[in-house]
Amino acid sequence: MKSTTEFAYAKLNLALDVTGVRENGYHDVRMIMQTVDLHDTLTLYASDTPGITLSVGDADLPAGPGNLVYDAAQLLMTKCNVQRGVRIVLDKCIPMAAGMAGGSSDAAATLRGINRLFELGLTTEQLQKLGVTLGADIPYCVGGGTALAEGIGEIVTPLPAMPRCHILLVKPPVGVSTSFVYKNLDMDTIQHPDVDGMISAIRSGNYVGVTSRLGNVLESVTLAHCPEIATIKTQMQSLGADGVLMSGSGPTVFGIFPTKSAASFAYMHFKVGPYGSETYLVQPLQP
Ligand code: ATP
Repeated sequence: MKSTTEFAYAKLNLALDVTGVRENGYHDVRMIMQTVDLHDTLTLYASDTPGITLSVGDADLPAGPGNLVYDAAQLLMTKCNVQRGVRIVLDKCIPMAAGMAGGSSDAAATLRGINRLFELGLTTEQLQKLGVTLGADIPYCVGGGTALAEGIGEIVTPLPAMPRCHILLVKPPVGVSTSFVYKNLDMDTIQHPDVDGMISAIRSGNYVGVTSRLGNVLESVTLAHCPEIATIKTQMQSLGADGVLMSGSGPTVFGIFPTKSAASFAYMHFKVGPYGSETYLVQPLQP
């Protein structure tokens, strides 16, 4: 039976700005996205029997509609009139409802995997256009790497790789609903991050320029419901992080360290603490 394996990588937001709210409630964003080497794994098997079968292991997720893997497979197979079936095995490692786009990345990996498995020949742009109908982060996740995402997330401009560094991820034990956070964002009091300065710093490989410009307008909203975010940030700073920020709608906090030894020291500190089960040491990745 023909099969293919896709890695679905987690992302961080080095910068996240909201520039407006549309009449339909969607938010216009400017986000600097960065893939890191923490991933879910999807294995897709072609079958001659039509239909989609999904295994999610012990993940607390539906194994049918409502799982972005299932929804993405159905969308692409319907669109391309695929008459065969697929069995997908999802192995989850990315924390859920954490601000790391685990679901969006799974959906993007599914689109890539189905496209390859059935030799459908869709371009990256075509997969991105389909993906945005399921979620605003999916177009970015199709290609990953370092990128600027604008519009509602569907306008993706690739950027050069960010400067080499080591990144510590710590997720407090709460899940955060992305829509709740956006609904509670007060556009009048937003402090906009320097997204253009961040882009210049990335283009010129300026490590300090990047770490000094980390900014996320959603952080204060989530912080009000999850004070652990502030505690984790302070601890990471005292352990030598050059920049700390909440990713996406949170609550995951990341710290950027210049050396592996500094990052490992901080990792060990958090690993034996209350958030140890969701503490990860990662690096930026250009897939
Ligand atoms: P983002 O950073 O894009 O806001 P997130 O990391 O906050 O995403 P996800 O882990 O992507 O959040 O999941 C958001 C919701 O999507 C979850 O509450 C979950 O019920 C649903 N979902 C559907 N399919 C998946 C999947 N394959 N993996 C994770 N979550 C999924």
